[in-house]
Amino acid sequence: MSEIISIVVPMYFEEEVALECYNRLKEVMDNHKINYEFIFVNDGSTDKTIDILKEIAANNHRAKVVSFARNFGHQNAVTAGIDYACGDAIVIIDADLQDPPELIPQLIDKWKEGYEVVYAKRKARKGETFFKLLTAKTFYRFLNYMSDIDIPTDTGDFRIIDRKVADVFKNMTERNRFIRGMVTWIGFRQTYIEYERDERFAGVTKYPLKKMVKFASDGIFSFSSRPLRLVTGVGFLTVFISIGLLLYSIIVKLLGKPIEAGWASLMVAISFFSGIQLLGLGIIGQYIARIYDESKNRPNYIVKETLNIDQLANYQEK
Ligand code: UDP
Ligand code: MG
Repeated sequence: MSEIISIVVPMYFEEEVALECYNRLKEVMDNHKINYEFIFVNDGSTDKTIDILKEIAANNHRAKVVSFARNFGHQNAVTAGIDYACGDAIVIIDADLQDPPELIPQLIDKWKEGYEVVYAKRKARKGETFFKLLTAKTFYRFLNYMSDIDIPTDTGDFRIIDRKVADVFKNMTERNRFIRGMVTWIGFRQTYIEYERDERFAGVTKYPLKKMVKFASDGIFSFSSRPLRLVTGVGFLTVFISIGLLLYSIIVKLLGKPIEAGWASLMVAISFFSGIQLLGLGIIGQYIARIYDESKNRPNYIVKETLNIDQLANYQEK
C-alpha cells in the first residue's frame, strides 16, 4: 500500500499552460508510479482555464477541481487546495511550470527520509526581469530582518508538506495569509533541495506590482511586530533631538547671540517630523486593518463548484 501524494496547483488565467501542466505532472506521476491526486484550484479565472480543467477531470477521476466564486488570490487558492487534499503528503506547485514537476520525486524521497517539510530553493532564475530579481532578493532579505521567524530565502511555495503539517495549517484560519511564513512557523523537521527555476511556460505573470506589494506587506505585518517597535524607537529619537535643539537655542540665547530666523530649517523640521508621524500612523493602521479583517471572520475563499471531490482516498490501481 503506497502513500497518496496530493498535488495542489493554483490557477489564475492559465488557459495557455493548464493542459501542458497537467500532462507534465501526470507523466512524472506515471513514470515514478506515484499514487497521486491532483487538486487544481481555479482562482476565479474567467478564461478557458475552467473548461480545460473540466475536460481533464472528466478523463481522470484523480484530477479534482475546486473553482472559486471570484479571484481570492494565490495564497487563498493554495489554502483551499490543502483543505481539500486527502493525501499523506501534499505538494504545492505553480501552474506555469516555473517549478519543474520533475523535481517532485526528489521532494518525495526527502519526505520519506522523515522530513515533514521539504521546500525547493532556487539556485538561479531564468527568464525573469532584472526588476523582479532585484525586488525578490531585496524583499527576502528585508523580510528576514523584519520578521520574528527565519523564513528561508529564495524559496517560493513549491514544497512538500506532511499530513501532520497540513492538519496544523488547516487550523490556522488567519486572513492575509503568507503561506511560506506559516509553514516555517509550524516547525517540525524542515529541509530543502536546490533547483534552477525555469521560465514561465506561457502567458505572463499573474503577480503585477500591486499584488506583489500586498504579498510583501502580508509577509512583514503578519509575521512581526518589529515595525511597531521601530516606530517607537524613531519616536524616542525625535524627542531627544528636539530636547537637544531646545538646549542649543537656550545656550545660544544665554551667550547673547541672536538666533537667525531660519525659515528653511523650520520647514524642514516640520515636514520631517510630520512625515515620521504619518509613517507611524500608517504602520499602526496596517495592524489595525489586519485586526479588523480578523474580527470580521469571513471565509478566506468561496467555492463555486467542485469536480471529483467526493472521489476520496482509495486510489489503489483498479
Ligand atoms: N495565481 C493564483 N491567483 C492569483 C495570482 C496567481 O492562483 O491571483 C497562481 C498562478 O496561476 C500561478 C501561481 O499562482 O500558478 C504563481 O503565479 P505567477 O506564476 O503568475 O507568479 P510569479 O511566478 O510571476 O511570481
Ligand atoms: Mg510564475
